[in-house]
Amino acid sequence: MADPLQTDIKFLTGVGPKRADLLNRELNIHTFEDLLYHFPYRYIDRSRFYKISEINSQLPYIQIRGRIISLEVTGPRYKKRLVAKFSDDTGTIELVWFQGVSWIRETLKKDREYVAFGKPNLHGRQLNLVHPELEEAEKYEKQLSSGLQAMYSTTEKLKKNYLTSRTIQKLITTLYQTQKPAVKETLPGYLVEKLNFPSLSKALFAVHFPSDLKELERARLRLKFEELFFIQLNILKQKVNREKYFQGLVFSKVGDYLNSFYRDRLPFELTAAQKRVIREIRKDVGSGRQLNRLLQGDVGSGKTLVALMSMLIALDNSYQACLMAPTEILATQHFATLQKMLGDMPVKYSLLTGSTKKAEREQIHKSLLDGSLQILTGTHALLEETVQFQNLGLVIIDEQHRFGVAQRARLWKKNIQPPHVLVMTATPIPRTLAMTLYGDLDVSVIDELPPGRKPVKTVHYTDSKRLRVHGFMRKQIAEGRQIYIVYPLIRESEKMDYKDLEDGYFSIKQAFPSPDYSVSIVHGRLKAEEKEIEMKRFLERKTQIMVATTVIEVGVDIPNASVMVIESAERFGLSQLHQLRGRVGRGADQSYCILMTSNRLNDDARQRISTMVSTTDGFEIAEADLKLRGPGDLEGTQQSGVPFELKIAHLGKDSQILHYARKTVIEILEEDPLLDHPKNAILDEQLKKGSKGTFNWGVIS
Ligand code: ADP
Ligand code: MG
Repeated sequence: MADPLQTDIKFLTGVGPKRADLLNRELNIHTFEDLLYHFPYRYIDRSRFYKISEINSQLPYIQIRGRIISLEVTGPRYKKRLVAKFSDDTGTIELVWFQGVSWIRETLKKDREYVAFGKPNLHGRQLNLVHPELEEAEKYEKQLSSGLQAMYSTTEKLKKNYLTSRTIQKLITTLYQTQKPAVKETLPGYLVEKLNFPSLSKALFAVHFPSDLKELERARLRLKFEELFFIQLNILKQKVNREKYFQGLVFSKVGDYLNSFYRDRLPFELTAAQKRVIREIRKDVGSGRQLNRLLQGDVGSGKTLVALMSMLIALDNSYQACLMAPTEILATQHFATLQKMLGDMPVKYSLLTGSTKKAEREQIHKSLLDGSLQILTGTHALLEETVQFQNLGLVIIDEQHRFGVAQRARLWKKNIQPPHVLVMTATPIPRTLAMTLYGDLDVSVIDELPPGRKPVKTVHYTDSKRLRVHGFMRKQIAEGRQIYIVYPLIRESEKMDYKDLEDGYFSIKQAFPSPDYSVSIVHGRLKAEEKEIEMKRFLERKTQIMVATTVIEVGVDIPNASVMVIESAERFGLSQLHQLRGRVGRGADQSYCILMTSNRLNDDARQRISTMVSTTDGFEIAEADLKLRGPGDLEGTQQSGVPFELKIAHLGKDSQILHYARKTVIEILEEDPLLDHPKNAILDEQLKKGSKGTFNWGVIS
């Protein structure tokens, strides 16, 4: 029998085809069940009103009651804002909107009494509420609900079509009244009992209509646990299967390649962390299990060397190896590193990128097939069907987050028996996120920089200190150092950003005139060759200053560059700032990162800047980023192409629940690896079904 919860949302009373279409497109709600899983993102305590004079920026979401005394649209066309002054008998506060300005302006009426909900926020010295929800006081009073009021996320488009948080709540009420949804349990009875959880049916109801805080918390706990539990179950079950069905290639020995490299060519001592990681890798590849390891190490921690030594182990066992990088510049740099490190050792290696000439490409294809080419480094070009190996034993992927997970899988297929896979990333990933995205991989960490590196000194200046910054730059240049100046580039306002960049370039040219100084510029609108030429000029020290957009973010290793100036630093995310800072501090000299911002910073931006100033620890920064933003916004996940969206759990805040869920999964799989036991049948069923409403895990791993 068809599951009534799978009914098309358009059949719900009050929806119809037009609204259904909007719900589909804007919120990905297609069925009754999807609606049930559209969880409130917050609850408002309806039991109290705040006075405007009582408000401070530490308060959570609050409600206030008052009148709009003025309404004004300000700012240039591409940056319009709507500002309403809102007063009660104790004071006035600003309500601000950046999106949907025109239509919100139309719906609001001056001098009418409203109830406003929002989070107080400090902007400069002024308190305001950004994008508050407003409701006419008269209508507000007609509602019966008291206590905890669920708030649902909507979009500007939905609101424009009168699908507000309140409408969504009404639809859910209708669903319960007309359908009495029969929600089937998804966790085994023994687990629900052991954890003392409410049933799924109860939890879903309570999360929309909590009778009190305690009930709400229990419901949320169960739903969060469940969400994280199934992600872990899926990932770890796949790992169990993989280990059961695939054997790993055995690299049983260490031979001449590695030994002579280690003895004759290694220009420095390995750090203790590098040694440990190489040991971990050797243990894996010798074990008969397939190596599936994530290697995390901050920028400059020396991952390339670990990659190279691992590849030499493959060669020692008569296998080929490849090293894949996300950009041409990076791949080329890897190739140069191989040249430098391997010197005259009898190793055959090549570079394959999109711009490799046809004749050379054909030569590469041929020598890969006959086995004479031992190491191939390159870009996505390595993934093409025509690239066939004789005996591929090890695949190393640098900067995983630039590659889709599906691409990782394509490399697997380049050998009959899957090769060992080492994934390297310099974007430190918080443990909780790593467990979720790469929960099937073993993790190694290089948590130590090569000796003699001085941590980058980071300072924050506002625009008024620009002359001082220029003075400092001149001094550094006089000492032979080079400087990066980075401008943000955010796609939506591309025109403006280029103007910023061009203005910046112009004023730098004036402050640093030729012939004493020369300045490079690199940005996304240049052709690849032009970029390359500019990068090269900088690399060869023909220019002292490189003005750039974030295109240099991941990539180049220029140890002589010692200053990174980041303009409008408040517009960058934390992990991006950290990546950029990692471009300097790669040589033995003291390096500097200068964060330039305007005077007026909001709370979030202030927090980001102060985190950057206070620590250089990538993991600490990643954790802070996760707390500030949530995983969907984290760089690594956006670029991975993984539709990473948790419905209710938050990896920054719910790490305890995650750890507990993972532990529970491990216990279950240890006892019943294939989920054959009848008591676990329900789990197997859920996995096969792919959970509705939670996570699109088919794409993961
Ligand atoms: P990343 O981890 O960012 O890829 P790299 O592998 O590019 O770092 O290494 C950064 C720099 O540090 C390189 O110039 C490399 O030669 C150097 N390096 C790597 N390991 C050591 C070491 N053990 N001692 C000194 N320098 C090292
Ligand atoms: Mg690297």
